[in-house]
Amino acid sequence: MSTLSASSSVCQHPAHLLVKPAGPDCNLRCQYCFYLEKHALFAEEKHCRMSDDVIEQYVRTYIASQPTKEIEFAWQGGEPTLMGLDFFKRVVALEKHYGEGRTISNSLQTNGTLLDDAWCEFLAREGFLVGVSMDGPAAIHNRYRTTADGRGTWDMVDRGVKLMRKHGVEHNVLACVTRESAYEGVEIYRFLRDYGFEFLQFIPIVERQPDDRSEALGLNLSSPPQISDDGEGPAVMPFTVEAQQYGQFLIDIFEEWVRRDVGKVFVNHFDSALGAFYGMNPSLCIYAKMCGSSLAIEHDGTVYACDHFVYPEYARGNIMRNDMAGLLTSNPQQAFGMSKWLDLPACCKACEVVQACHGGCLKHRFAHSAEGEPGLNYLCPGYKLFFTHVRPTMLKMCELLRAERPAAEIMQTFPRATTASRNRAKQQRKKKRRR
Ligand code: SF4
Ligand code: SF4
Ligand code: SF4
Repeated sequence: MSTLSASSSVCQHPAHLLVKPAGPDCNLRCQYCFYLEKHALFAEEKHCRMSDDVIEQYVRTYIASQPTKEIEFAWQGGEPTLMGLDFFKRVVALEKHYGEGRTISNSLQTNGTLLDDAWCEFLAREGFLVGVSMDGPAAIHNRYRTTADGRGTWDMVDRGVKLMRKHGVEHNVLACVTRESAYEGVEIYRFLRDYGFEFLQFIPIVERQPDDRSEALGLNLSSPPQISDDGEGPAVMPFTVEAQQYGQFLIDIFEEWVRRDVGKVFVNHFDSALGAFYGMNPSLCIYAKMCGSSLAIEHDGTVYACDHFVYPEYARGNIMRNDMAGLLTSNPQQAFGMSKWLDLPACCKACEVVQACHGGCLKHRFAHSAEGEPGLNYLCPGYKLFFTHVRPTMLKMCELLRAERPAAEIMQTFPRATTASRNRAKQQRKKKRRR
């Protein structure tokens, strides 16, 4: 271990950092990826790799800056496994050295394609929680998740997941929802559940054509909306999920889950909504009242407001020059987090499901309300549809929880689907897909 100087002050509240040790570098070329293009920000580097000095400074100052006994490290990309296994062995050694008795946990988000026996032995031994990206069955996954020469990657991911299972690595799945797959909710959900995933995260793909700001940076996708933006703005990319259909996608999955899987399968949106209708702050940042406590750190030590805001104007500073706690709690960062609530259009503040939605992610607020107010979330029609649909059932689940009964008892209130109704639903889904 080196003896890097500069002491670190302590944050009042815990803050999370998504670490990108290999920057935007990845061995795959998923066509909807929002992060590969960030290479333009580090154009002078052929390969983005976190140096020994930066990783040591990061581990040391991040631990020192946190007010809690439990410290979480979250590794992401690009593809973090490009760093190689020795890098992560060094990370764990640094965590033990600087941890001073604190409980440290690690999570790793990966495309799963570079995992082998040695990786999986290590991940299992060190208790990493691994999130693997799989969009559903092969035909759906391979639509956008491809190699540089356009080949589908499902078989490679399948191999990685099977290796993790062989070695007992704790893992969950992250599935992206596109314009096409939003019509295939039940098929995707059943597939991922039956494949053996218990924790499912669904992420909507929402990207726009480049605007002037992003083109000036050499980027291919639009930069985040600014509240002063007016007019229609750039059009969405063709793979972007349709707003209303995204809500229907979540409803289709909910209708299956609430009949047979409550308490057995966990879906990020349903957990968050249940907590919100119970009176808690939604667990997903996109649905929380405020955000700003989940930042991102790039391979060169620069800290950004959020994983979705890796743009020069949202850089908070660099851990090699600035105090870590100061970066995590700077005034601009606090203003960023509070803007999630303060800048909501009036229609959101008056919305009947605002407690569960809170206007969604800042990155997606490029629509206008019916009154012409800017800052409405592009996904609003879908959010309204979903939260309004699930609220009565969720409120019943809250009643069960308040009576100290398992929420899973809700399944008893639903009649089992008959073959006729299942066939009807199948026909409806087919019709929708043909549109
Ligand atoms: S695996 Fe992830 S980082 Fe790599 S191209 Fe696909 S979406 Fe982007
Ligand atoms: S900008 Fe979006 S993704 Fe980032 S912390 Fe806020 S709500 Fe979450
Ligand atoms: S559903 Fe729409 S109007 Fe309601 S809070 Fe969410 S984004 Fe705003």
